[in-house]
Amino acid sequence: MPEVSANYTGFEQGPIRPPSEAGSLLIRVTRNCPWNRCGFCDVYKDEKFSLRPVEDVLEDIARVRRYVEALRETAKENRGLSPDAARRYLGGDAPDRAALGAARHWLAAGAESVFIQDANSLIIKPERLVTILCALRESFPWIKRITSYARSHTVARIALNDLQAMHEAGLSRLHIGMESGSDRLLALVQKGVSQEEHVRAGRLVKEAGIELSEYIMPGLGGRELSREHAVESAAALSAINPDFIRLRTFAMPADPELFLRHWPQGFTLLNDEEIAEEMDLFLSALTGITSHLKSDHILNLFEDMDGIFPQDKECLAAMPKNFLALPEEDRLLYRVGRRLGLFAGLGDLGDTAKARRVRDYCREMDINAANIDYFIGEIMRRFI
Ligand code: SF4
Repeated sequence: MPEVSANYTGFEQGPIRPPSEAGSLLIRVTRNCPWNRCGFCDVYKDEKFSLRPVEDVLEDIARVRRYVEALRETAKENRGLSPDAARRYLGGDAPDRAALGAARHWLAAGAESVFIQDANSLIIKPERLVTILCALRESFPWIKRITSYARSHTVARIALNDLQAMHEAGLSRLHIGMESGSDRLLALVQKGVSQEEHVRAGRLVKEAGIELSEYIMPGLGGRELSREHAVESAAALSAINPDFIRLRTFAMPADPELFLRHWPQGFTLLNDEEIAEEMDLFLSALTGITSHLKSDHILNLFEDMDGIFPQDKECLAAMPKNFLALPEEDRLLYRVGRRLGLFAGLGDLGDTAKARRVRDYCREMDINAANIDYFIGEIMRRFI
């Protein structure tokens, strides 16, 4: 095992991962975001991007492996995963608490997948990523999936054979933040990529045999670009046919100035009815794809929107239509219930116990048709 770098301080994890990677082991290969300019994103705003030395990443993997083995060895006699027993098993070894915690969390979740952090891991040299992927496979031969975030701008510049080598070494899925297929909107939010690059990168990932998950941000274009955003995003996705399309509805960042300074003509935040209209248009415009559409984010209006194209297209498109057809009072109830996390889909309106709780809440907070948009905006800000 090569020496770690002089700056190595122990196992590291970055701040975010996709919702679908909640049970994954997080392995940090780079820190923060090398682009860091998207107007809607403040995750890494005050953080500097850096690469982590491969030796340090390999040491992180080796530490987790040691703790995984110790936790498994001691689990039987302790009737469960016990960090104290694992430490004793390792001879009182000064513990890397972060690595031990990660190992325990991972085992408790089934230890099936690994997510490579942070925002754009494919920016490192392909052979370095292959070394890390091989170490993961060797250390944890049972894992079913290794995934990472990547930017289309970066992926579009990687040679196909390098992507294939990553896939062969174990990289099974990439999560790409497309956000929109509209060139005008991509420029306004400083995404640093065009629709053509998104399409080129997406097709390349698929050609390399890697699964592709594309994220779309309903509402990102505001009232001004809603239609264009829906139509162009559907066009880009139809051209790629990713394995997954994931929705993550736009919410104004904590510092709205960050976002609004790039909109000299003004930006009007969509309300939920307008989001539903945009969704309706977007879903109808998706054609020729076999993607799995998922809505696994708390900010989304319909959490239960989950289906595979083309067979579920009608069913998916019915959700925004059915919402828009509800009486105003029921739409308000649904919006509040959804944002409180009590409702996942329109069917929950029929759950009398849940509906009563939401009604009581609306009465208590004096939520009505006049102040609902403000109220929803405030709740959504808490989730970003
Ligand atoms: S590339 Fe991703 S992480 Fe980086 S600023 Fe944009 S949205 Fe945020």
